[in-house]
Amino acid sequence: MLVTGGSRGIGRAVAEAFLAQGDQVAVTSRGGGGPEGALDLVCDLTDPAAVEAAFAEIEEKHGPVEVLVANAGITDDTLLLRMSEDQWSRVIETNLTATFRLVKRTSKGMLRLRRGRIVLMSSVVALLGSPGQVNYAASKAGLIGIARSLTRELGSRSITTNVVAPGYVETDMTAGLPEEQQAAYKQQIPLGRFASPEEVAGTVTWLASDAAAYVSGAVIPVDGGLGMGH
Ligand code: NDP
Repeated sequence: MLVTGGSRGIGRAVAEAFLAQGDQVAVTSRGGGGPEGALDLVCDLTDPAAVEAAFAEIEEKHGPVEVLVANAGITDDTLLLRMSEDQWSRVIETNLTATFRLVKRTSKGMLRLRRGRIVLMSSVVALLGSPGQVNYAASKAGLIGIARSLTRELGSRSITTNVVAPGYVETDMTAGLPEEQQAAYKQQIPLGRFASPEEVAGTVTWLASDAAAYVSGAVIPVDGGLGMGH
């Protein structure tokens, strides 16, 4: 299996959960540094040649990718009127266009195998919206369109595609938020706390398991109730 952005945060917890099950795991990131036991590849997902090279190495060492967790993502927040074309494009390129590139490349092997599991890491923000995150919310909502279209294109070959929509998770991405802001967010969350990366990983391993064989095109919230009704 391959998890992108497996060097830290949610992606690392996902990689560790699959390793604990005894699976062969490859991780990618720009900086490198995946968990012990994983095939650790340096790959900037915005570079098509780097993605192709990473797949070639994974296929040589592990065979075709049967489970793809497209998790790598970035934010570059600012209010709409201040958002530059570059801030828009950078986030869309990393979160949405790179995911298109990944699912296209992965699906080749899955179609040959006639099975596969694709999990796309979205966000509660895709459904709720968020001030200062027009670029990020658009990229994360786009993943839902990809998953639902792929379910229709690939579903008959036993390839499922699902979206996980975490709320706030304790990672580097949220650690940078000021204390008062973190407290204000927690007040809005029915469960009253942020998630641990492991709690998101549990949903991902379930989606990749036999137990979830009939789940596809779903958007699964892991948000402590924050996005209820959306
Ligand atoms: P982190 O910032 O902790 O980790 C992001 C990972 O993605 C790193 O491994 C990073 O490695 C990698 N990455 C970023 N850009 C690229 C790139 N261009 N090419 C390859 N790898 C890249 O993020 P989180 O663990 O917090 O988030 C993981 C996913 O979950 C993201 O998609 C995020 O949007 C989503 N999410 C997070 C939430 C949260 O509260 N934390 C809430 C909802 C969704 P490197 O920098 O070395 O490239």
